[in-house]
Amino acid sequence: MSWKEKFKENFSKAKEGISLTQYCGLGVGGKADFLFVADTVNDLVGAVVAAKKSAAAYRVIGFGTNVIFSDTGFKGLVIVNRTAGLNIDSSTGKVIAESGVSLSKLILEAATAGLGGLEPLYGIPGTVGGAIAVNAGAHSVSIGDYLRSSSVLISADKMLSAKRDWFKFSYRKSRLKYSHLNSPPVVLNAIFQLQRRKEEDILDGIARFKKERQERQPIGQKTCGSIFRNPTGSDQMKSEEDRFRTAGYLLDSAGAKQLSSGGAKVSKIHANWVINKKNASAHDVRDLIEKMRNAVEEKYSLTLLEEVEYLGDWKNA
Ligand SMILES: Cc1cc2nc3c(=O)[nH]c(=O)nc-3n(C[C@H](O)[C@H](O)[C@H](O)COP(=O)(O)OP(=O)(O)OC[C@H]3O[C@@H](n4cnc5c(N)ncnc54)[C@H](O)[C@@H]3O)c2cc1C
Repeated sequence: MSWKEKFKENFSKAKEGISLTQYCGLGVGGKADFLFVADTVNDLVGAVVAAKKSAAAYRVIGFGTNVIFSDTGFKGLVIVNRTAGLNIDSSTGKVIAESGVSLSKLILEAATAGLGGLEPLYGIPGTVGGAIAVNAGAHSVSIGDYLRSSSVLISADKMLSAKRDWFKFSYRKSRLKYSHLNSPPVVLNAIFQLQRRKEEDILDGIARFKKERQERQPIGQKTCGSIFRNPTGSDQMKSEEDRFRTAGYLLDSAGAKQLSSGGAKVSKIHANWVINKKNASAHDVRDLIEKMRNAVEEKYSLTLLEEVEYLGDWKNA
């Protein structure tokens, strides 16, 4: 029996041959062999266990804002995580979130309960699980800074209560990112320890960070945020020189804002962002990313590395 037959027998709820474009921030990608939207943690676990039992490759995604699917799609099961449970204890500062909760929703609801710390991340359009996997951050604050522990499914019958250190967080990275596994660990929920502060101060901070994002970033377009990591290995500007070594600065000064490929263009607002302007394919996007990398390489003899992650089969794309 093929893995597909086995999987269908184990998990009839998944849909077959679904286009991934609507599940990818950039709006590109072919079809997934199977796709399942998990609304509850039980659903999420059920889908992962069924995939493991059928030896099917799988990936859990949140809002797909840090991944680019290839035009040939995903051979296996894509699980779209829409779990939404959120519990906030304003007296202890403890926040328990299921991994599909929107990061901005968590930050806003915590703020109204007088809990802050994560507000620089307000506006990052991801889920809690996605943010943990990539250690999302902004303004020198990363989600890992506030994580206490998390339930992680690591095999069909093994759940781990993982403490912060288990994730090996570093700049835009955790042990879950770049794992390239066919059956990677899955974050089911997360416990954060936030700071008790005045609600109006936290809300002021949120408004300030939101405004800054609106001014600096092409909001409301099909994009996946920063394509490349900063070569400084950090978003902290420790010296004036660091500003001149961000991926955005290097790309801008190498003329990347003029670059395009098919329907994909580099944003005029931020040279490290690619926009799907007009029915771009994943191939257009990848081609444009190589042009951006080459522009910086030619001018600075420095090779930029991706912050975004490529999913699916790119060899035959
Ligand atoms: C407009 C815009 C602004 C952005 N600004 C920022 C920014 O300021 N800072 C920043 O860091 N990023 C930024 N990003 C990138 C992106 O939004 C973040 O990285 C975000 O945290 C990704 O979350 P997601 O749920 O969309 O993850 P996805 O893109 O769906 O997935 C990312 C990775 O996480 C894995 N993953 C997802 N859920 C789970 C889970 N439950 N368990 C295990 N692994 C999981 C996926 O398999 C994949 O490897 C921006 C993107 C956009 C479009």
